[in-house]
Amino acid sequence: MGDTKENDAYEEELLDYEEDDEKAPDSISAKVNGESAKKGYVGIHSSGFRDFLLKPELLRSIVDSGFEHPSEVQHECIPQAILGMDVICQAKSGMGKTAVFVLSTLQQIEPVAGQVAAMVLCHTRELAYQICHEFERFSTYLPDIKVAVFYGGVNIKLHKELLKNECPHIVVGTPGRILALAGDKDLSLRNVRHFVLDECDKMLEALDMRRDVQAIFKMTPHDKQVMMFSATLSKEIRPICKKFMQDPMEIYVDDEAKLTLHGLVQHYIKLSEAEKNRKLNDLLDALDFNQVVIFVKSVSRAAQLNKLLVDCNFPSICIHSGMTQEERLTRYKGFKEGHKRILVATDLVGRGIDIERVNIVINYDMPDSADTYLHRVGRAGRFGTKGLAITFVSSASDSDVLNQVQARFEVDIKELPEQIDTSSYSMLLPDVSILALTFISLCLLLFCTQGGGLVVQ
Ligand code: ADP
Repeated sequence: MGDTKENDAYEEELLDYEEDDEKAPDSISAKVNGESAKKGYVGIHSSGFRDFLLKPELLRSIVDSGFEHPSEVQHECIPQAILGMDVICQAKSGMGKTAVFVLSTLQQIEPVAGQVAAMVLCHTRELAYQICHEFERFSTYLPDIKVAVFYGGVNIKLHKELLKNECPHIVVGTPGRILALAGDKDLSLRNVRHFVLDECDKMLEALDMRRDVQAIFKMTPHDKQVMMFSATLSKEIRPICKKFMQDPMEIYVDDEAKLTLHGLVQHYIKLSEAEKNRKLNDLLDALDFNQVVIFVKSVSRAAQLNKLLVDCNFPSICIHSGMTQEERLTRYKGFKEGHKRILVATDLVGRGIDIERVNIVINYDMPDSADTYLHRVGRAGRFGTKGLAITFVSSASDSDVLNQVQARFEVDIKELPEQIDTSSYSMLLPDVSILALTFISLCLLLFCTQGGGLVVQ
């Protein structure tokens, strides 16, 4: 562990964010200790989780989670990450980046009572909650390891008491609350050996959040592992991320076409603002969806659109930053558990959030950038499953964003046809009625065969 003096030295380095003298590799490449090797992206590897030589307790929870094979990003990162190496990793949405840092951290941690060993930061409370849940799931058979989540909107006294009475070994949180707890000396970061930033571009692009992250980072020892993840890591943000790291393993998808989700069918609809509600209504009636997320551009539009849908008897809820934390979390959990099938949301849940049953995303309002588009539509088609994304285009600037998406990610987004093949985006299990019909047909067949035989005799 480094001492305070050491920390002072690297604080100086961190303060200077403007330099951009580092060249990033220019294709999909994994760079380990300076050596770079080209990699294809999609594909399941022949090796299994067993080959990573993880603790048996972790392997057990991996099996319980139904993970059969590591995804490419897991295959690429886990072997290095469990050796304590710094990692900066870009991989497309829904391919299991969370498990990379969750498994690597759990593999390495040796819990010491009263000491926080891992600090995981992300940009929204919902994502923090989800990450904490992933730590809990994978640490089922490691009962000595305690995890806790801290974010704003919850009485800080409760957090302070928890830290005092039941100090976790792994802390997941959003920067504001973590900084408040650490600043008040309720949370000691002196023993942190693993520091993770999820959606790191989002966290470091916004200056106020970057300032908080930096302040938290400075309270941790110099000697630690740093891991950062996102589906979008522009060439501008990479050197900023790397200022927090030492000789990291770098995994980038420089050919942005490779960020397109292949299981995802993408369409647009040109219409006027006034036609949006009618069209949405028709789509929700016509499409075969498990769960759908409808993205809008503001808190007030989320509330209004949701009200409209509820008034039309659609099973809809909304989530946005204008709600209390309790309300936000209850709604998020309710949707994740499938109590409602339609979620109207702002970009609050545009990144990171993983809801297995979502197979359709509708951009009722066009996202503000191609990156935001990529993150939003990535809520459907998780981990190679099928999905459908439909985007409403109602202005020239909407068309501009759509064109940028197509140019950058080399995806051909066509106008929504009259008829769209359900099997191209639906992951529904066979309908009960189809199962029943199949069963009746089989019975009839059996009966006829036997019956026919009797007639012949
Ligand atoms: P990302 O962070 O890359 O967007 P997530 O970590 O949220 O993606 O993972 C997306 C989904 O895929 C989650 O539901 C997760 O449980 C699942 N998943 C991750 N890794 C595997 C795996 N190896 N096998 C099966 N499912 C996986």
